[in-house]
Parts: sequence; structure tokens; C-alpha cells
Amino acid sequence: NMIFIPREGEGERRVAASADTVKRLTGLGFDLVVEAGAGARSGILDSDYETAGARIGTVADAASADIVLKVNRPGADEISRYKSGAAVFASMDPYGNEAALAAMARAGLTTFALELMPRITRAQSMDVLSSQANLAGYRAVIDAAHEYGRALPMMMTAAGTVPAAKVFVMGAGVAGLQAIATARRLGAIVTATDVRPAAKEQVASLGAKFIAVEDDEFKAAETAGGYAKQMSEAYQAKQAALVAEHIAKQDIVITTALIPGRPAPRLVTRAMLAAMKPGSVAVDLAVERGGNIEGSVKGSVATVEGVTVIGYDNVPGRVAASASALYAKNLFAFLETMVDKETKTFSINADDELVKATMLTQGGKVVHPNFAEAAL
Ligand code: NAD
Repeated sequence: NMIFIPREGEGERRVAASADTVKRLTGLGFDLVVEAGAGARSGILDSDYETAGARIGTVADAASADIVLKVNRPGADEISRYKSGAAVFASMDPYGNEAALAAMARAGLTTFALELMPRITRAQSMDVLSSQANLAGYRAVIDAAHEYGRALPMMMTAAGTVPAAKVFVMGAGVAGLQAIATARRLGAIVTATDVRPAAKEQVASLGAKFIAVEDDEFKAAETAGGYAKQMSEAYQAKQAALVAEHIAKQDIVITTALIPGRPAPRLVTRAMLAAMKPGSVAVDLAVERGGNIEGSVKGSVATVEGVTVIGYDNVPGRVAASASALYAKNLFAFLETMVDKETKTFSINADDELVKATMLTQGGKVVHPNFAEAAL
């Protein structure tokens, strides 16, 4: 079977295979074809892929691919290049994009949305949400520090003392916890909030102070899958009052709050930004899902009520070399489960829970229960 690694579209620096995963996939019996320049924006040379066992090809090779490894969902033009029956693995961003899923189904593609991978022990090595969110949380702090006109650590010098920056992280999932750790490493005084009670201990273990409305609703706010629930209006009002008071004393706010399949909760209003000190910085990691911060602009840095609000999209792509290495490994780990080690044959087992959870389209239809109806 032939695996094709295309060069991603403009604006995407990541790539879905590394020299390491090319070598491993070759070892599993696959023929690897990498589109020329696919790794360039992640610092991987064509010659690196060649040394690892791949052939360097062109878009024309797409037509003979049995398997396509990608970072982002293929667009309309790209879909038409793949043969019916080809399996495409990517971050598909399926929610709200049912028309695009239907198009992939019509093209006969068997597609897998890596972000729907269940968060069970067996699939930890395939968890692209975690590998990419981790780097996004790190980069959010670096981007904030870059825009901030002051130092983050306390510095005692002969010329006087620079106080430590106060960093507030909203949403303490994978991205938020890494943001806390990174801000701590830079010497900031860090506080954090979340609606899931389990976050409290994790925040404390990183040396940050946990701040939240801890009422009865909070105590029951985690789903069986470990995700946040949509909170009631009453809770949101209490949370907003607490945040408003706390945020006014912060130098940097980093928001990471998401609820699967829903728009991001609005956590920071213009009035809250207005109460922050001049020179403060906010980073909205949820900007692609509607944003946690009022006034954040997807893809750029805006000044809102005197606060520098960073709304970069695709933040993992801002740490492309690291993000590609981890993403490629996640894909490899999933693909490996579909290969018989003895006979080196590739097959998709529709009864496997990982396949059930991630397969979007097959045999001309949208098969995933969450999207099948909407795509009709
Ligand atoms: P996410 O990206 O869906 O959301 C980010 C954070 O925002 C979450 O912690 C969420 O609780 C929080 N949030 C949502 N609404 C909020 C609000 N109104 N105010 C404040 N915070 C709010 O989450 P994630 O990073 O994907 O992690 C979700 C859970 O999954 C965590 O418990 C994490 O530890 C767990 N997890 C488990 C595994 C595994 O077992 N394999 C892997 C990764 C993550």
C-alpha cells in the first residue's frame, strides 16, 4: 500500500510525517511518497525523508495513494485528486463543517478525524488534541511575553527591582496546564481557573493558585469523558463577577476554555479588559471556536480597551517543528493498530472502538453518528 504525504496549504507550517515516522511506516511494509517541500516549513528536508525511505513525489502521486496522511482536512480541489476508497487521516474540524464531510463522502474517501480519538489509555499516544494543545499552551505564554513590555520574572538589580508579572490562566486542560507550567518557569506569579473540580489539584501541583466559584454545580461539572459541561447562566454570572475582580489585578491573561462541539464560552468581556492595567496582554487560544475574549480577532493582534489581545490561529503551527514531530507520531500510532505485524497487511476494522470514534465517511456515506444526519 502507498502512503502519500502532501504539502499542506498556505498558512500551515506543519506536516503529517517526520523522518522518524516515515522510517517506521516503511518498516511496516508501506511505500511512502512525500510531496516535494512538504516538510520545509517544519525544518524537514526532502533529503531527510529520502534517507528515511520515502520517495519524493508531486501532487500527481495523490491519485495512486491508498492512504493519505494530513494535518488539515482536504479542500475541494484536493479531494478530487484522491481515488475513491483512499483512506485520509487528518484533523478534520468536523463540527459545523457537515458540507465538507459530505463532499469527502461523495468522493468515496474513507476519512478519519483524529481529534475525535477517545481519551482512553490505549489511545493516549494517538491524541492529537493533547499533543498540539500542549504546544499551543506553551506558545501562548511565549507570544504574551513577546508583546508584554515588561519582564516576567522578578529581577533585583542594582538599578532597582522589577516585579514579577501576574499571569492568569483560564481553562486548565492540556493547553492551560502547559501555559501555567511555562509561565511559572519564566518566573511569573500564576493563578488559574476552570469549571472542572479535577483541575484544582492539577493547578496546585504546578505551583499556581486555583480560583473558581466552587458551588454544587462546579462539583458536578465534569462529564464522564473528562470534559467541561456547558455551565448554567447563574453559574456564569457568579464566575464573571469573580473573574472581573481578579482580572483587574493581572498583567497577562491566557484563555483556553473549550466545550466539545460548542462555541467557546465567553469569559472575558470588554469591561473586564478595560479594568486591566495599561500594557496588559491577553491571549485567546479559543479564538478559532468563537473566542473566550470579547474583541479578540482571529489571526491577529488587536488592541481592545487598551489591552493587547493576541488572537493567533493555529498556534501549534507557530511551533511547527515540534508540533509536526508529535502529530506525526500520533498518526503513526493510530495507523500501526491497522497493520497486521506478521503479514504486513493494512485493514480497517469497523468494530474497533478507535475506528468507530474517528471514522467520518466510508463507502460514499457520512457514517459518524454525530454528523450522519446533519450531512444528509
Ligand atoms: P478542552 O480543550 O476541551 O478545554 C480546555 C479547558 O477549558 C478544560 O479544562 C475545560 O474544563 C475548561 N473550560 C470549559 N469551560 C470553561 C469555563 N466556562 N470556565 C473555565 N474553564 C472552562 O480540554 P482538554 O485540554 O482537551 O482537556 C479536557 C480533559 O481531558 C481534562 O480533564 C484532561 O486532563 C483530560 N485529558 C485526558 C486524556 C487521557 O486520558 N488520555 C488526554 C488529554 C486530556
